[in-house]
Amino acid sequence: MDPAKRASLGARSEVRDDGQLEEQVKDWLRYGEDLGLGPFYRDRAPLHAIAESAAAPVATQTLATSSGISTAFPAAMAAAAASRAPASSINVAASASQKSTASIILPASAPSLFESIERIAGDTLPRIREDIGDCTRCKLHKGRTKIVFGTGNPNADLMFVGEGPGRDEDLSGEPFVGRAGKLLTDMIKAMGLQREDVYIANVVKCRPPENRLPEKDEITMCSPYLMRQIDTIKPKVICTLGSCSAQTLLQTAQGISKLRGEWFDFRGTKLMPTYHPAYLLRNPAAKPEVWRDLQKVMAVLGLQPKKR
Ligand code: SF4
Repeated sequence: MDPAKRASLGARSEVRDDGQLEEQVKDWLRYGEDLGLGPFYRDRAPLHAIAESAAAPVATQTLATSSGISTAFPAAMAAAAASRAPASSINVAASASQKSTASIILPASAPSLFESIERIAGDTLPRIREDIGDCTRCKLHKGRTKIVFGTGNPNADLMFVGEGPGRDEDLSGEPFVGRAGKLLTDMIKAMGLQREDVYIANVVKCRPPENRLPEKDEITMCSPYLMRQIDTIKPKVICTLGSCSAQTLLQTAQGISKLRGEWFDFRGTKLMPTYHPAYLLRNPAAKPEVWRDLQKVMAVLGLQPKKR
């Protein structure tokens, strides 16, 4: 293996021998091929041939999970991310016996879909929208009225990511404008912000029929645009709404009830999964859990709740 790549894998290499490590890298590469990511970027290469040679360095940070267990984001992981080595890690403390000592790092259940995608130097939201064009890259284009790109502050510290447009969004071209959208707006205001302060986007930009969840092939084709939006906006915190967006960005099959309320690292950005506002409309009893999740986000961003 190339010595530079070997070095970039950092701490991971300390716990695997060369053979295991090489096999894992091959698995990651095969994974990207299976998802068809190569053609997507080859097609658009003439527009944006220059990719950043390195991502911004990510500081080591320690966050407290809701369970009170220290969760570390070590420099080794940041270095791996900066080299775009496929080194997605969700750091968890393994057992109660380790709570009082240093936390340990466990690999994510699967490599991140996006770890191998290059960041695009000089990318902008208008350019991303231009690249989407009148998109027909997946079957969702057949039933859409409008592409729902995303909306809000292009320099937002906080970015919400939902799954896909519903009927109201499909008609208006704006995300989260129906009943669930009104609830999200209320949640944002309760955090001491205005809707215009944050950025809101979805995993897929066109409405799935009958409001079903986006399917894997649709997510594969559309989510690179979301990735570029995240890379362009560079929020301090991403708050995913519902299972689809959390599972897509974290590349996990874990359910939202297991994921919500815990901090994750997504390419150097803190990510907090919580329930989708549409779920809260059906299950208002879950609102206190979401409010606890949002309060963790507020603590990181230094926000004060809106005074009543
Ligand atoms: S969902 Fe995304 S990939 Fe599919 S047609 Fe719409 S914009 Fe294109």
